[in-house]
Amino acid sequence: MRTTPVCIHCSLPMTNISVGATIISMYMDPPQPYKLWRTDIYKCPQCSNEVAAGYGTPTPKHLPEFDEYLEEIWDTLKTPYGVSDNDIIIEYEKATDSILYGSNSRSRSYLLGLLNKRFSKKEEPN
Ligand SMILES: [Zn+2]
Repeated sequence: MRTTPVCIHCSLPMTNISVGATIISMYMDPPQPYKLWRTDIYKCPQCSNEVAAGYGTPTPKHLPEFDEYLEEIWDTLKTPYGVSDNDIIIEYEKATDSILYGSNSRSRSYLLGLLNKRFSKKEEPN
C-alpha cells in the first residue's frame, strides 16, 4: 500500500519531515478534545505545502489512556518554545471553529487553557 502523498499542485511526491506527531480532533461546542491520533507530516519539496497523512489507531475519549495521553500533550504545551509546528496539530470538525480559533498557534493556546483547567488541580499540594 502506498502512503506517500503527492502534491497535486506540483506533481511531486512529498517528503516525510516528522514521524509520530499528534493530531487532536476537536468536537462539540465549544470544541473539546475527543480523539487523539499519531500521524506523519509530509512537505512538498517545491511549494512547501505540508499535510498530515497516515494515521495510527485513534485513542478515543472513552478509553482510560486518553487522559494520560492528553496530560502528556499538556506537559508539552506548557513548555515554552517546546512545541514545533509539526508536533501537535489541532483538527476541528467544523470550518466555523477553524475560523473562530484561528491558526495552529492560537488553537494551541485555546487547548492549553482547557487542559490547564482539567489537569492543574492535580498539581496543587494537599
Ligand atoms: Zn507542491
